[in-house]
Amino acid sequence: MPLPEAFDYAEPEGMGLELGDQVAAPLGPRLLRGVVVGLRDAVGGNRPLKPLDALLEEPRLPPGTVEFIQWAARYSVDWPGSPLAIALRGARAPKPRPTRVTELTGVAPGRTTPARTKVLEAAADGTLSPPDLARAAGVSAGVVKGLIDEGVLAVRMVEAKAHFAAPDPGRAGSVLNPSQAAAADSVKAMLAEGGFSVALLDGVTGSGKTEVYLEAAAAVLAADPAAQVLILLPEIALTQAVISRVAERFGAEPGEWHSDVAPPARRRVWEAVASGNCRIVVGARSALFLPFPHLKLIVVDEEHDASFKQEEGFIYHARDLAVARGKIEDAGVILASATPSLETLRNAEQGRYRWLRLSTRHGVAQMPDIELVDLRESPPDHGRWLSAPLVKAMGETFARGEQTLLFLNRRGYAPLVLCKACGERMTSPETDSWLVEHRYSGRLVCHLTGFSMPKPKACPHCGAHDSLVSIGPGVERVEEEAKSLFPQARVAVFSSDTAFDAREGRRLIEAMADGQIDILVATQAAAKGHNFPNLTLVGVVDADLGLRGGDLRAAERTYQLLAQATGRAGRKDRPGRAMLQTWAPEHAVMQALQAQDRDAFVAAEMAERELAGLPPFGRLAAVIASGPDAHQLEAFMQTMAQAAPNTTGVAIYGPADAPLGLIRGRRRKRFLVRADRTVDLSAYMATWRARVKPPAAIRVAIDIDPYSFL
Ligand code: ADP
Repeated sequence: MPLPEAFDYAEPEGMGLELGDQVAAPLGPRLLRGVVVGLRDAVGGNRPLKPLDALLEEPRLPPGTVEFIQWAARYSVDWPGSPLAIALRGARAPKPRPTRVTELTGVAPGRTTPARTKVLEAAADGTLSPPDLARAAGVSAGVVKGLIDEGVLAVRMVEAKAHFAAPDPGRAGSVLNPSQAAAADSVKAMLAEGGFSVALLDGVTGSGKTEVYLEAAAAVLAADPAAQVLILLPEIALTQAVISRVAERFGAEPGEWHSDVAPPARRRVWEAVASGNCRIVVGARSALFLPFPHLKLIVVDEEHDASFKQEEGFIYHARDLAVARGKIEDAGVILASATPSLETLRNAEQGRYRWLRLSTRHGVAQMPDIELVDLRESPPDHGRWLSAPLVKAMGETFARGEQTLLFLNRRGYAPLVLCKACGERMTSPETDSWLVEHRYSGRLVCHLTGFSMPKPKACPHCGAHDSLVSIGPGVERVEEEAKSLFPQARVAVFSSDTAFDAREGRRLIEAMADGQIDILVATQAAAKGHNFPNLTLVGVVDADLGLRGGDLRAAERTYQLLAQATGRAGRKDRPGRAMLQTWAPEHAVMQALQAQDRDAFVAAEMAERELAGLPPFGRLAAVIASGPDAHQLEAFMQTMAQAAPNTTGVAIYGPADAPLGLIRGRRRKRFLVRADRTVDLSAYMATWRARVKPPAAIRVAIDIDPYSFL
């Protein structure tokens, strides 16, 4: 619940509460699930406390988890109920349904046949349902039924066990190459010292960072039979490959945790983590809130990835919170990336993190050649998006039987639809932003709110027929162009529209890894992390796209995204090639990408940030307020501006209209706060918030270290 602090209750005689217990607590007329976050002796207050209703028969949250939840709420300037709700997501999911097992009763069968003997053998350990038993014995269902009818076998319902097989850290992993071995030794030495410590595993794409952190995980699991390891990934689409590698390395499935995991399976992971039985979890950012009692290592793979930032509901950055949780749990943390964030690089430069570098690809694989295609010199034809040099390279690649990845970070067919008769742009009625055309579904979609409508036949503004034209490219349009250029090629699109769930995403990734696709047109969802052995050409359709947004991290993000995308090429024995189509080849980001000189790019970017006092040299927070009435909102923002605490080292900008000024009928305004690193910005923001009471219609969100400035 959005309550500012924990409530006090009396513990009924004999309940025997401990920290982290789940309880049923009365609140007004209702009975709610609560968690014990502190216990103390009553000091005879003047109001009698309400007694708790019951101690729930549910796993207890370990002390580290309870502390972490409270820390996270304070850091994010949110109510403790927000992170607690995330932590209890698995506990509130329905239990897996009981399963049927067939057991021997001890009654001897009236007659024996070879088929019956096989069934009796297969039924010995009593774990199979009747159909599974028939299948295991290779007999018909009738044989099993006959034995049940005779009383030789009995069927029993059992609770599905939240059980995971123990990982075996002693299994041989890959033989590490010398630089991998050096990195692994260094990180193992760090972890062996015990306690909280952080390593940055900074290795070029394909250098084998996964091999190194799995080796570190093996050491942690071997050193302590209770130790648990958490591996965080930024995208659901990346989890499957890592799960397979973990399963192969340790001979046991890890727990899988993300929003596409079905609730009963989530419950199973949650309980097995809480009991300590599930020792390795591979998951997306919310896995950080699982109730690990013995967390010893957290790996944040692709640590630079902005997907680790949760922007809605409880606002947090999973990389930053992973470091905080590591500190609370006295655990090791490994941050892995080919393009670390400036925040992490700064910590490594200053010696707060142990810095391990892998500068070459594993084996014979070479870094790809990177070419800039100057679109001013080689513009694509009208209504086309692929330049002649890129098309030529695609043809050569296809002729050699190799794969191409075309990268464009834009879903749908076209980002804008306008009427060529009257010039009207099709905008979302809810947000004022452009509606994106999707040809697969034949609809115009608002990517912010999900609003969609069929593409109209006539312009809604002037009524002209067949006057609506599609402007600019999305992945679907590039797919269309690739198909028309290479009719024999197998072309597919990977975006959140085609890979709409984890299974579909996995299918596409496997098809690509398997060589069943010649040309994959993909948004960032497929451009990072994956290993496609036969992929030798990466074409970036619009390398300038990310630079246009113009927020603090635009250059950094573009560099990271394009370095990741181009890093998909040539990961096996064949050399790779990457081509970046750009209108600004002289831009520092493009020059650094071509020269593959990350250090120069980082140095220049750091210098600019330092000059401006921006992260990682200063700290930022944002206040986003929204309400249905523009005047009321403006008045509230003025009140809020006046209530800001006056502190040295803090500057407040705004109120200003948010770039997304209107979402679902609500106006939006923002403040941006910049503070010196020495300021406790969370405390500052909490004080500020406590001084104002927004009207009921106005919602206020605080975003510590914002990544989105919309
Ligand atoms: P990164 O995470 O740095 O991009 P990966 O760990 O995915 O790199 O490794 C890239 C590829 O090289 C993978 O296919 C991996 O199996 C292979 N590889 C890396 N190191 C080794 C090794 N020591 N022995 C065998 N294969 C390796």
